[in-house]
Amino acid sequence: MLPSMSSQKNQEKTKTEKAGSPVNYFKFLGTAGARFVMARQLRASGGIYLELMGQKIALDPGPGALVRMTHSRPPIDPAGLETVILSHKHIDHSNDVNILLDAMTAGGLKKRGVLLAPEECLDGPEAVVLRYLRDYLDRIEVLKPERACRLGPLTVRTTCRHEHEAETYGLKFYLPGLVLGFMVDTKYFPGLLPSYRDVDILVMNVLRAREAEGDYIKHLTVSEATEILKELKPRRAYLTHFGMTMLQADPRKVAEKMTAETGVEVLAAYDGLTVTLDSLS
Ligand SMILES: [Zn+2]
Repeated sequence: MLPSMSSQKNQEKTKTEKAGSPVNYFKFLGTAGARFVMARQLRASGGIYLELMGQKIALDPGPGALVRMTHSRPPIDPAGLETVILSHKHIDHSNDVNILLDAMTAGGLKKRGVLLAPEECLDGPEAVVLRYLRDYLDRIEVLKPERACRLGPLTVRTTCRHEHEAETYGLKFYLPGLVLGFMVDTKYFPGLLPSYRDVDILVMNVLRAREAEGDYIKHLTVSEATEILKELKPRRAYLTHFGMTMLQADPRKVAEKMTAETGVEVLAAYDGLTVTLDSLS
C-alpha cells in the first residue's frame, strides 16, 4: 500500500553538503542539460544520487557521475549502490551506467544490485548497457509506463511515456508522507500532467529559457514549466538540466520569477545541492 501524503507537509528542507549525510536525501551530482553545457562542463553532468529508506540509488548517471560521487563531500561509495536507474538512453543520462554497474558489483565478484531502464537501453542497436555486466546484477527491471516496482521498502513508479526522442519515463519515489518526482526530459503535452498529480516535491528538467522555435524541440521551456506548476501545485519544485539559454538567464532569477507567478516555491538546483527530506528521519 502506498503511504499517505498528507502528513508532515512542511518538514523537508534544504541543506548544503557540509552538513553531512542525512537519512533520506537526494543530491544533484550535476545540473547540466544540452550538449554545450555538458561538453564544456559549464555544469557537471552526473545526474542524481538518492538515499531513500536505506536504498542507495543513482538516477541518470551522465558523464562524470562516478567522479562526482567519489569526490563528493562526504564521499559517496559507488560500491555501496543498490540501484541504477536510467530514464532514457541519451548520453547525458546514461554515459556512466556501465562503470557504476561494475563498481556496484565489484567487477562481478559480488552478484548484487538492480538496474531499471527502458527496453531501448537494453535491446536494439543503441543499447547502452554492456551485456557482460548484466550477469553481475541481481535483477534488471524493464521500465514500462505507469508501473510500480519495489526496491526493498521503497516503491518506485514510472509515469506515462514522455514525448522525447528516446523511450523516456519520469520516476516517482513513494516515501512515508511524501512523493518525490522527477519530470525528466520531455516535450510538453497535456497528457503529461496526470502522472504527476500526486507529487509533493517535483524536480523538473527545464532546458530552455526561450520558447521552442519548432515542434522538434523535445524539452521543457520555462513558460511550459510555469504552466505545469500552476496546474500541479506541488509543495516545492527544483529546476535542473540547464541548457545555455537557462545559464544565460540565471536559473536563480528564473526560479524566483516562477515562484512569483505560480505560488509554488521554485528553487534552481546547482551542482552538489543536497535536498534533505527530514519528514522521514
Ligand atoms: Zn534526453
